[in-house]
Amino acid sequence: MLRTFFVKLSENRTIRGFAERSAVGQKLSSRFVAGTSIQAAVAATQSVNKLGMHVSLDNLGENVTNAEEAHESAVLYEQILDEIGTRQLDANVSVKLTHMGFDVDEKMAQDIVGELVARAAAMQPKNFVRVDMEGSPYTQRTLDLVHHLHDLPGNSGCVGAVIQAYLFRSEKDIEELLAKRIRIRLCKGAYKEAGDIAYQQKSEVDANYVRLAKILMSSGVYHGLATHDESMIEQAVAFAKTEKIPPTAFEFQMLHGIRRDLQQKLVLDGWNVRVYIPFGTEWYPYFMRRLGERPANALFVVKNLFR
Ligand code: FAD
Repeated sequence: MLRTFFVKLSENRTIRGFAERSAVGQKLSSRFVAGTSIQAAVAATQSVNKLGMHVSLDNLGENVTNAEEAHESAVLYEQILDEIGTRQLDANVSVKLTHMGFDVDEKMAQDIVGELVARAAAMQPKNFVRVDMEGSPYTQRTLDLVHHLHDLPGNSGCVGAVIQAYLFRSEKDIEELLAKRIRIRLCKGAYKEAGDIAYQQKSEVDANYVRLAKILMSSGVYHGLATHDESMIEQAVAFAKTEKIPPTAFEFQMLHGIRRDLQQKLVLDGWNVRVYIPFGTEWYPYFMRRLGERPANALFVVKNLFR
């Protein structure tokens, strides 16, 4: 119930506008968001890299309402890729299609992301654009876009998708992506989805997550297992050991500020870990979804406000 409450809050535009402009809001969100500027994101990336972990940078924002905003978001991503190149950061980028104007003009969003992927592919070494997955109205269209961009000459290996284990359709989507060796991030799924398309019980989502993770790990393509759930991680590690899948064959992914102890433990045990670092002024929906995943976080961030 609390999860639904926070997901609903994440969609409220009035509270969002107020929260994002307030100093208190920015302080509250700082545990999960690396700051509002590219400089802050670069600094956070450098400290995570020093700890032996890769990074994926996400300029926060979603559901832009006009072409101008979409182009502004794209320019920021171009700057991030430039920073990664010049400062030789161990990082790639994650983008949300609705941040690139998917709701305004699908073709425009495709062109914008296409340019980012081409830019990443032209870097030395080649970089990578992960297209985040949003709610189910976007699933098919997002996968179509990833397939399309991956098929363009020179882009192979430079664009990847996200699959949500709570959706019934995910195994079939994985099969289609694997047929082209497209890199996948597997997560449980952060939105509120209906019972006719998605598992509702945590136990069902977890079981599907483990099943799909095993398919990805056995595929010979480099994928990301995004979760903070120790049980998911333990089962993936056990599977890698029994199947003799080397630590270089896949990575674990976690969000900035969440289970930092577990991130470091995995690194010390020799596994690849990538930290997803969100930054930017439009942090509200992202922050609310994180609170919804673990309502104890709400108490935690409020306590920190007074420290
Ligand atoms: P859960 O079952 O939610 O939690 C298991 C345990 O993990 C909890 O008991 C707690 O100990 C810990 N934990 C989980 N969440 C938190 C938290 N917020 N704060 C503190 N502890 C926590 N979802 C999408 O729908 N689309 C995406 O593109 C997407 N990209 C992601 C990228 C990365 C790198 C990660 C890590 C997640 C992404 N997600 C995305 C979110 C994901 O779908 C889940 O909502 C989120 O990761 C919580 O699920 P979990 O696997 O961590 O396990």
